[in-house]
This record gives sequence, structure tokens and C-alpha cells, in this order.
Amino acid sequence: MARLAVYPGSFDPLTKGHLDIIHRAAEVFDHVIVAVSNNPAKKHLFSVDERIQMAENAVAAVPNADVDTFSGLLVDYLREKKARVLIRGLRVVSDMDYEFQLASFNRKLNKDVETVFLMPSNEHTYLAASMVREVARLGAKVDEFVTPFVARKLALKFGRKRR
Ligand code: ADP
Repeated sequence: MARLAVYPGSFDPLTKGHLDIIHRAAEVFDHVIVAVSNNPAKKHLFSVDERIQMAENAVAAVPNADVDTFSGLLVDYLREKKARVLIRGLRVVSDMDYEFQLASFNRKLNKDVETVFLMPSNEHTYLAASMVREVARLGAKVDEFVTPFVARKLALKFGRKRR
């Protein structure tokens, strides 16, 4: 049976750190679904359609990964996809607090779901979508942190010339 993994997140926007995790997951699992969350209660910079588009552009080069969206309970989405593995990225020890709680909760909700944590390469450990949004808003160059497609989307979003 093909080993399917789901990598969920808000990906607002997708960064090179996320992409690092997608590549690693695609190496060890047969197929990876990048699941963009659609939670209207959460405020995002990019709409769900924009976040999907950016993720699709980034995973186009990963043959065994694709992009989907989900709303509602993540464990229900995994059940629907017949996937057991949930991928999360761990950058620094401080991520662990939140991620451990989330994984424990998801296990409580569905004991069949296994959360697998992957570490990005050292150059991506400092990278967070929230920081990328903030520096892009302030007009900084973000090419180092995101794909050229996402960099263009950010420039358009903030309606200014990139430095
Ligand atoms: P969420 O809103 O669910 O936290 P994010 O899009 O912020 O979604 O992140 C999705 C997952 O990717 C999380 O597990 C997060 O820890 C991980 N992640 C975010 N940035 C990086 C990075 N630079 N390197 C590795 N993992 C990351």
C-alpha cells in the first residue's frame, strides 16, 4: 500500500522552509499532500485560493506531491484521504511546545494518526511565514526566503516596488 503523508498548514505564504519539509517528506513517503487550511475564523494575508496557487507553483517540481485544501478537523481530512501520517516541521525547540500539544490532541481525536516531525536544513531554521509577511510589508527584499512566484505575489500585495 502506498504510504501517503499529509503536510497541513496555513502557508501564508509558502516559504523555502515549507518547501524544504515538502522535499524531505517526498523522499520518505510515496505521496505527499500539501493541505492548505481554509479556516475563515483565522485572519490571513492571502486568500485560500492565493495560498493554494503559491503552493501549487512550488510543488510543481515535486512529482509525488500535490496540493489540496481542507476545512474542519484535520483528523477527519486524513481519514477521508485514508492517510495515517501527518507531517509537521520543527525548526527550533520552542516549536515543540505547540507542536507537541497539537500532535497529542490529534492523537486523542484519532489514535490512528501518527505525527511525523521533520527538521529543515540549518539555513531554514530561522524562517517563519509571519516574519516574511512583516519584512515584505516594510519593503525588504524577500527572494532569499520564498520562491520567485511568492516574491512577486508579495510585491503585488503590498503594491510597492521591491528593493
Ligand atoms: P500553521 O498555521 O499550521 O502553524 P504554517 O504554515 O505556519 O502553519 O506551518 C506549517 C508547518 O510547517 C508547521 O509544522 C511549521 O512548524 C512548519 N514550518 C514553518 N516554517 C518552517 C521552516 N522554516 N522550516 C521547517 N518547518 C517549518
